[in-house]
This record gives sequence, structure tokens and C-alpha cells, in this order.
Amino acid sequence: MMAQQNTKKKLNKFDFSIFGDINKARPTLNGGVHTLQYRILRLFGMGLGLDQIIGTKASNGIQYTVGKNIGKQLVQKKIIVGKNKKELLASFVKAVINFKIGIPSIIKQNKNLPLIIRIDECINCSGMKNINRVICFYEAGIIAGVLSNIFNKKLDAIETKCNAKGDKYCEFKIIEN
Ligand SMILES: [Zn+2]
Repeated sequence: MMAQQNTKKKLNKFDFSIFGDINKARPTLNGGVHTLQYRILRLFGMGLGLDQIIGTKASNGIQYTVGKNIGKQLVQKKIIVGKNKKELLASFVKAVINFKIGIPSIIKQNKNLPLIIRIDECINCSGMKNINRVICFYEAGIIAGVLSNIFNKKLDAIETKCNAKGDKYCEFKIIEN
């Protein structure tokens, strides 16, 4: 009982250390995530699977919230690092590529704050059939979480373009909430 409570507490913090050293644990397979494997878990498990059980709106909200918490951790745990906002933003771009989430570009910027972020080759949806809706709520959450922490503002990322609704890339509008 006590052990279960401890595990629950740790998971609630979205602390990456719970995974251990995945490169050490999977020396032959290099710890990386295969795109197909990611999509099976992400789209069928976390996306469409959740939609079926709790409905699309609640599912989208959960995916976004999980992503946002993880995005915040990326900055807090210094996986995304920098001495100033410009360096942190550059580190964020690098991390999105390193994690193979996609190829990000900042399309529109206001002072230092990115207003529109485009993701090419999105791990979640690039090349996907058109299902007439945006689906990258988890990825939007990550972007919102990272940027909220970098700019110390409550920011949200709204996906406006998505491969899953027939676009050639994903695009996210950054807004203050
Ligand atoms: Zn998308």
C-alpha cells in the first residue's frame, strides 16, 4: 500500500527520472522510439482509444494537459537549457528535433515570443490520411508547457493546421491565457 502511494506521488510529478537510464537499459535498441511504435501508442492508446472511452473533448484535454506538464518539466529539469530566452528557445528547437517530434520553425514572432510555430514531419501525424480534424493535442501541450516556462507566462498552443485535417504540416498559434 505504501509503495503504491509512493509510485502515485512520483507519477503525478511527471518526473522523467522514473524511467531510469533508457539508453543503458536498452543498449542494443538504443532506447529511441520507433515512429510506428510511437504512433500505435499515441494515436490508438492516448488518442483514439481515450476518445472512445471518455469522449473526444475530455480526451483532447487530457492529452494537452499531460503534454503541458511534460513541457514544463523539460525546462525545469534542464533538458532544455539556456542563459536567456533566446538560448532557451534555440534549445527548445534542438530538443524537438532530438526527440524526433518534428522539425520546428518559428513562423511569426512578437518581440521574443513566438506567435506561430510550424512543425514539419510531425511524429504524430505526418503523411496521415485526412480525418478532418487536428489531433496533436499532446504535442501542442508540450509546446505550451515549454514556452510558458521559458517566458514565465501562462501560454497556450492551439493547433490550427494538421496533417490529419489535410494540411502538409502542423502549425500552432501561441496565445496568452
Ligand atoms: Zn498535427
